[in-house]
Amino acid sequence: MGRVLIIGAGGVGTVVAHKVAQNSTIFTDIMLASRTKSKCDKIAEAIGGNIKTAQVDADNVEELVALFNEFKPDIVINVALPYQDLTIMDACLIAGVNYLDTANYEPLDEAKFEYSWQWAYQERFKKAGLTAILGCGFDPGVTGVFTAYAAKHYFDEIHYLDIVDCNAGDHHKAFATNFNPEINIREITQKGRYYENGRWVETGSLEIHQPVTYPNVGPKESYLLYHEELESLVKNFPTIKRARFWMTFGQEYLTHLRVIQNIGMARIDEIDYNGQKIVPIQFLKAVLPNPQDLGENYTGETSIGCRIKGTKDGKELTYYVYNNCSHEEAYRETGMQGVSYTTGVPAMIGAMMFLTGEWKQPGVFNVEEFNPDPFMEQLNKQGLPWHEEFNGDLEF
Ligand code: NDP
Repeated sequence: MGRVLIIGAGGVGTVVAHKVAQNSTIFTDIMLASRTKSKCDKIAEAIGGNIKTAQVDADNVEELVALFNEFKPDIVINVALPYQDLTIMDACLIAGVNYLDTANYEPLDEAKFEYSWQWAYQERFKKAGLTAILGCGFDPGVTGVFTAYAAKHYFDEIHYLDIVDCNAGDHHKAFATNFNPEINIREITQKGRYYENGRWVETGSLEIHQPVTYPNVGPKESYLLYHEELESLVKNFPTIKRARFWMTFGQEYLTHLRVIQNIGMARIDEIDYNGQKIVPIQFLKAVLPNPQDLGENYTGETSIGCRIKGTKDGKELTYYVYNNCSHEEAYRETGMQGVSYTTGVPAMIGAMMFLTGEWKQPGVFNVEEFNPDPFMEQLNKQGLPWHEEFNGDLEF
């Protein structure tokens, strides 16, 4: 049915490659390209079949265009880093290729992520007749689809949205991040932010927290963070009065994080080290465990969902929709842990939605702007089944 090019051969790229290969009637031709070709080759070999590989520097538009013109993909799944979003989108416009990613653009020299840079491509994608699907991992991604599904089927108006993200897994390391450490630490050490009554309220970093009870896990201390899907969800569902994002962290993790910050290892500016320029957070990434290698001893599960309060036919209603994902099962299937799995599976489904025509529309879109039903159906089939609870206690 279609040709797909995956860019990025990290934890998430590995899962995407497995999942597109499993759906070979839809993804008839597959290429995996990244900065380090040997990583692509290793993944392709482990999966078997006929996955082509290539080396590409995704910061370089010309190189990307040359690769696109050679392989002629229908869609690119960008699971490199957020720094590459704009160069890949530029190359898509030049070569006439559709686009999907899992994280919004972030400049390398400033820990700031927002959709404005990518939303600015709207007219150009529309004019070119190309589709760009933004933020199609789990969060952002499935959380937006969950919200759209709730709005479509159960609510006249959504008023309160709390996205709750729990990783109750144990990788048996003193400290490790579950996806790219640089991106992860930049996100968590930012100031918190949530939306209330038409404005954004800023908080100290991890200042607001409370216990939240997760299905099959139990209560876990959960911390209010700013997360990118809040920006698009409050725009696309204007009845929302308050939208927040919560994530669990263990005490051990937070202690390590505090030390890392206090000693300057989370800095993103260049410093001089023995006559050489280095960026501390990039050096830190080089010495931390590679998220791709965490899978083997990872036990426990993730639990991510949306807790929604609103009205239907004039009556108040609460709704909780969530997925729990076992790290061990994710590892057995793809060799990667649950966080890479919960990101890679939705990215594949998003590309499937495009190729099957369900989500094919010229322009730049966040996932909640499309019909959620076929995506929800595929979540159940592709390894991320979801569950619903009506009129329970949302704890907020
Ligand atoms: P990794 O660091 O494991 O992998 C990133 C990959 O991109 C690596 O293979 C890396 O190459 C490659 N890469 C980096 N820079 C370039 C470049 N200039 N040109 C070509 N390739 C490049 O990250 P993850 O797999 O953990 O995460 C991938 C993406 O998924 C990130 O953007 C992350 O923010 C996002 N994510 C989204 C989530 C969601 O739920 N929406 C959750 C988790 C992650 P090399 O191997 O040479 O370093």
